[in-house]
Amino acid sequence: MAELVFFSGTMDCGKSTLALQMDHNHRARGRSGVRFSRNDRAGESRISSRLGLEKDAVEVGDGTDFWEEVMRRRTQGQRVDYLICDEAQFYSPEQVEQLAKVVDEIDVDVFAFGITADFRTRLFPGSQRLIELADRVQVLQVEALCWCGRRATHNARTVDGVMVTEGAQVVVGDVDMALETTASAGAGSTPVVGYETLCRRHYMRRVTAHGANLMAEQDQLLPFEVDACLWRGAGGPGTGQGAP
Ligand SMILES: [Zn+2]
Repeated sequence: MAELVFFSGTMDCGKSTLALQMDHNHRARGRSGVRFSRNDRAGESRISSRLGLEKDAVEVGDGTDFWEEVMRRRTQGQRVDYLICDEAQFYSPEQVEQLAKVVDEIDVDVFAFGITADFRTRLFPGSQRLIELADRVQVLQVEALCWCGRRATHNARTVDGVMVTEGAQVVVGDVDMALETTASAGAGSTPVVGYETLCRRHYMRRVTAHGANLMAEQDQLLPFEVDACLWRGAGGPGTGQGAP
């Protein structure tokens, strides 16, 4: 029985690494699949992981129809047993429905990988549809950590180092979901967009690692227990239990 599985997590939790590992495992068992991605950090038609692995992939665009993609290959005599769909948060709800159809009608496994929510904590439409339709949603166990050491559950966007909670869901050229991204061309006019994973507490309080450092440097009287958080962080990964 084919399955539609959605592997979700925050940025930096190893989704693309798992996507490539999954592809490798199925290939090693003699199965044949197609890799897809959209807006990978390494550029078009790539799946790349933070650990340095990189493979070619079919770039998904607005006009991509997964049903047609699979049918065309099969018509050409190519075997398609499964699809690896990375950066699935950028797919449209319609494309996710095509993936479900591929699973149900022609018994092709679909393994989708993506972030659930954007920098405003809102679900990406593609991720929402995946959660609604998937046979299984698996939250990745390699957890990203907030600067305080707690489990990072939220993706924050920074513009020129300042955390923002408004703006377009996907910024043009917004390909690197990393802590420090887009090197500004030195022009000074191009805002530098970056991403950082935070725990909910620090997302809500808008305290990024940079902000926390600034406060520590200035030795300000802190309105909340950043010191305690830092201490916890220094002692190793947080307990995840959190203070009240
Ligand atoms: Zn935190």
